[in-house]
Amino acid sequence: MNFKGHLAGGLLTGAGISFIAINFDSQVVRTVFTITPIALIFSMFPDLDTSSIPQRWFYRFIILYMFSLALNNEFKFATLIGILVLAPVIDQHRGWTHSFHAAFIVPLALIIVYQFFLSRNHFFENFNLNGIVDCILKYKWILLAAISGWCSHIILDSKWLVKNHAKHI
Ligand SMILES: [Zn+2]
Repeated sequence: MNFKGHLAGGLLTGAGISFIAINFDSQVVRTVFTITPIALIFSMFPDLDTSSIPQRWFYRFIILYMFSLALNNEFKFATLIGILVLAPVIDQHRGWTHSFHAAFIVPLALIIVYQFFLSRNHFFENFNLNGIVDCILKYKWILLAAISGWCSHIILDSKWLVKNHAKHI
């Protein structure tokens, strides 16, 4: 699938999850506006493993972001961002970023790392299973948006989609 197809897939996934969240969770009000952007980012993430226009813009943005982290002495966080954004290019195109396992494991790992950073200010007293579960429950819609956006990419790249046979994906 091409860039526009994944863009549409990410937007539709984000809109769908936002719709479910609004209808089933009265607490979601504040985070509902972040669901679609997160689904969109993660629906694009798998193709960072190949040279493309979105890839170039993504890395331009990341360079600026890492400069801002460096200026604020956030070197540990910058290192983690660096690992995450370099990870897609260590494999061939349609390698690990195009696996359903990664679509679940990486967003979950990011939540655990986030909880690690949160608990750092409290001598890690909340960095345990309870703390991680609480964090997952708190950000469940964001997590669902990331996983679903990523899965939408893999589904749209599937061989059984007739459109993908004719075009380079
Ligand atoms: Zn792809």
